[in-house]
Amino acid sequence: MMKSNYLLVVEDESAIRDMVGFTLERAGFDWSGASDVSEADNQINTRQPALIILDWMLPGLSGVDFARRVRRNAATRDIPIIMLTARSEEDDRIKGLDAGADDYISKPFSPRELIARVKAVLRRSQNNEPDSNLQVNALRLDATSHRVTIENHPVDMGPTEFRLLHFFMTHPDRVYSRSQLLDSVWGNNVYIEDRTVDVHIRRLRKVLAVHGYDTLIQTVRGTGYRFSAQV
Ligand code: CA
Repeated sequence: MMKSNYLLVVEDESAIRDMVGFTLERAGFDWSGASDVSEADNQINTRQPALIILDWMLPGLSGVDFARRVRRNAATRDIPIIMLTARSEEDDRIKGLDAGADDYISKPFSPRELIARVKAVLRRSQNNEPDSNLQVNALRLDATSHRVTIENHPVDMGPTEFRLLHFFMTHPDRVYSRSQLLDSVWGNNVYIEDRTVDVHIRRLRKVLAVHGYDTLIQTVRGTGYRFSAQV
């Protein structure tokens, strides 16, 4: 993804939207706001944001449903999403991540936390070092074009799953703990919990399972995960 400083904030409560926008501006970002999903669609069509900050509770289509739609559309699939959530239940956060969000922030949050997370997510998504093609059996990953195929069938996945798979394919047959994966794939970010790793592993396995390739990602009991073509 091209480096850009332009963010879209989708939030129906104008006070929160303006607070987020003001915080972004002060940190040197460019932004625009949308109060619902149709406004957000218009904004995205006009100018592709580098990141979407998306409120969970929106009138009409919810933030979770909108996140799913962004992920399904080839034109918007690679835009990272940070969910804003008033919900503190772990299950709801997991649901947000499952819908395709890259991270979430619970309300209320501080300007400092917001900017730290925005920067971390942008760093991860804009840090796609060009690399050769990677291949394991019929699974191929092209880091330059950001394409994953199995037996030449395209495999769609979110940006975090892509980075995770890329890491695994470049570090096969070794066991990594959740915190090692967080450091390597997410970068040092104090705000991310170990359980986030499990969510993204589950999502990655799900897309690979369509072609019977989920067995490549193995759970090592009490330790973490390993990527291996050997059973
Ligand atoms: Ca709201």
